[in-house]
Amino acid sequence: MTDSVQVQCPWCHEWQWLWLAVDDLGEMVQDCEVCCRPWVVLVAQNPDGTLRASVQRS
Ligand SMILES: [Zn+2]
Repeated sequence: MTDSVQVQCPWCHEWQWLWLAVDDLGEMVQDCEVCCRPWVVLVAQNPDGTLRASVQRS
């Protein structure tokens, strides 16, 4: 199962979709598809089982 969430790049402020799976829980590093700068993505689970993500500058 995957969840799609929309996140805003902390560098270029473009909104993008991330597809998350339970395997992604925790922290992962990913590059912005628009400006190619690095993100630290923090993935957490909501009480209803869906996933959410917050993005920080790496
Ligand atoms: Zn960006």
